[in-house]
Amino acid sequence: MNALREALQIWYKNHQRDLPWRHTQDPYHIWLSEIILQQTRVDQGLPYYVKFTQAFATVADLALASQQEVLNLWQGLGYYSRGRNLHATAQQIVRDFDGVFPRTYQELLKLKGVGPYTAAAIASFAFNLPHAVVDGNVFRVLSRYFGIDLAINSTEGKRQFELLASELLDSANPALHNQAIMEFGALQCKPVSPNCMDCPVQESCQAFRTDSVAVLPIKVNKVKVRKRYFVYHIIVDPFQNLAFSKRGPKDIWEGLYEFPLKEFDQLQSFQEYVSNKEMIGAKFKHILTHQHIEAYFIKSAYNEPNPSKHQFLCLADLETHPIPRLIDKFLIAHRHELF
Ligand code: SF4
Repeated sequence: MNALREALQIWYKNHQRDLPWRHTQDPYHIWLSEIILQQTRVDQGLPYYVKFTQAFATVADLALASQQEVLNLWQGLGYYSRGRNLHATAQQIVRDFDGVFPRTYQELLKLKGVGPYTAAAIASFAFNLPHAVVDGNVFRVLSRYFGIDLAINSTEGKRQFELLASELLDSANPALHNQAIMEFGALQCKPVSPNCMDCPVQESCQAFRTDSVAVLPIKVNKVKVRKRYFVYHIIVDPFQNLAFSKRGPKDIWEGLYEFPLKEFDQLQSFQEYVSNKEMIGAKFKHILTHQHIEAYFIKSAYNEPNPSKHQFLCLADLETHPIPRLIDKFLIAHRHELF
């Protein structure tokens, strides 16, 4: 641990980028830089940092600005909720902390939009408090150097990496240490093509020794979104009842009622199937957490598909027969076109 700590700090002194927020210990400026750099590259965020610090010299100045002024300055940076949060947090500091930036990790966490990473960054960079930052760069360096194949986006992985980052922290120089490991991850131990051949810790790096640099860090796969294409058949019997089927187990909407369904997994066959049919309404899109459904509703003759497979219900029966939200939305929009 000691050797890595020292190597990171020496490397940092020789390779760090000259960035304006590294020349200040003002928590307001450090917070501004951290919020601006979330989901934003340094070269893209830099001019915004300069604009904001010039327009609003203190957190009170920012709090007094109108939201429109703040959003005008934010324009082009994207993720506008961050701009709105920035303004709201400045107002929170004026309102709840008398305009003085909180000085402890726990109090920093009370600020809107400040999570563990940002609180650790402000606590260490502004107040030199011993809190380890753990961002994507730190995860990568730790995972590779120590050869840890726990997924960095799993609960257990996050816990272990946070513990390790705290153990590795140089408590005497937390600001320098945190800057060093983050910069090392950003410039040396990069996600793609890390500079292993000219790395000061190459000899003790587990990933390098075991030829696993390219596979670390591990991330568990996000669940893939499944696309589904539904064609619902609107079949009306001679008594103005509609055909329904009850959905079976091991799929979404188990036990709910829907119109007779033909499902496709390919967009092309789905579109071909409906191309010469009489549709009711336009295509419906329905988004579930891991499934995106597109659905058409088409008119079908009473004898097709086989009506004996279905249950015929009048609309009033739906009070006691639960239906998926997709069917409900369709009925709200088009019930007058069914008969
Ligand atoms: S040897 Fe490569 S993988 Fe290991 S710390 Fe250095 S740059 Fe990262």
